[in-house]
Amino acid sequence: MDLSFTNLSSNTHAEQRVKVLIIGSGPAGLAAALYAARAELNPVVLTGMELGGQVSLTYAVENYPGFPDGVGGNQLVELFQKQAERFGARVEFDTATEVDFSQRPFRVTTYNGVYLADSLIISTGATFIHLNVPGEAKLTGRGVSYCATCDGWFFKDKDVVVVGGGDSALEEGIFLTRYAKSVTIIHRRDSLRAGVILQKRAMENPKIKFMWNTIVTQVVGEEAVRAVQLKNVQTGEEQEFPTDGVFIFIGHHPNTQMFQGHLELDEQGYLVTDMLMHTSLEGVFAAGEVADPHFRQVITSAGMGAAAAMQAIHYLEEHSAEEEEAQLPTA
Ligand code: NAP
Repeated sequence: MDLSFTNLSSNTHAEQRVKVLIIGSGPAGLAAALYAARAELNPVVLTGMELGGQVSLTYAVENYPGFPDGVGGNQLVELFQKQAERFGARVEFDTATEVDFSQRPFRVTTYNGVYLADSLIISTGATFIHLNVPGEAKLTGRGVSYCATCDGWFFKDKDVVVVGGGDSALEEGIFLTRYAKSVTIIHRRDSLRAGVILQKRAMENPKIKFMWNTIVTQVVGEEAVRAVQLKNVQTGEEQEFPTDGVFIFIGHHPNTQMFQGHLELDEQGYLVTDMLMHTSLEGVFAAGEVADPHFRQVITSAGMGAAAAMQAIHYLEEHSAEEEEAQLPTA
């Protein structure tokens, strides 16, 4: 018996060698898994804390081709996963905590063990930006939320505010009208960033009101949210606005902390890639929102995932050919 296993739980493992390791299980990661699996590379996908990433928290995706009536975010992720697994991808409920790129294969430490990866696809996505105002952190889960799909139900017949003027704010605001008595969208400017269809839908929804040129300076409440403190950025006027819930959708930042100092990041912290999904290190590829401050759509992320996997396949083929050549006896 190998004594190194004796203190490990059933999920833990010692070093495992894999040809393709994919960190992150959103549309980019699962699309990469599908392509790598179909090349018979038995990729392993580390889910991270959230299987499916941000899209799994989205109530309905209406702009992914092939679903004319829309598809639930969660359902779409399940379908991606099922399709990748059908060809041999392995999805592990595990999170990478550390990378060591000083050696090849790359060494990736996770909660459950260590992977030695011949190639790596990073698709760790992005996470919600916080307002960083007093009361926000304290009241998160007590009226402050970043996910309407998860928490909307708790606000049946209540008044809620949504902060932001992008697609997420409007889409989630519209979703919240299923439950809430009223939804007030608070935006710091007087024009929206969201697409026109969403704008039209929100404007036509009788439960939705807009408050323009306004910022939230504080979330007010002791045990639960009672109000938000607002400031009009043009007049400077302040008011306490009673509300039961505060839904914040003001964008995302990329999940690249683990790669700082290892890979090139841009000034916003996104991984820098070329058109072929190469990061600054050969053999390490990136796809999806972690490397895309611009498009951030399910379809573009999935496309990037497929492209990253195709490049990883190409990279592995080249390297195995080089290794074979190196092993040939010299004349
Ligand atoms: P976003 O497009 O970056 O919009 C963020 C919104 O929050 C902007 O209106 C911004 O105001 C506001 N904001 C930023 N920081 C703020 C602060 N500190 N205080 C107050 N307001 C602040 O983010 P998103 O809506 O999450 O969308 C992200 C990406 O996902 C976009 O590319 C979007 O198209 C995509 N998306 C698409 C769909 C869809 O197609 N159905 C759904 C959701 C998301 P300003 O406008 O003044 O900058």
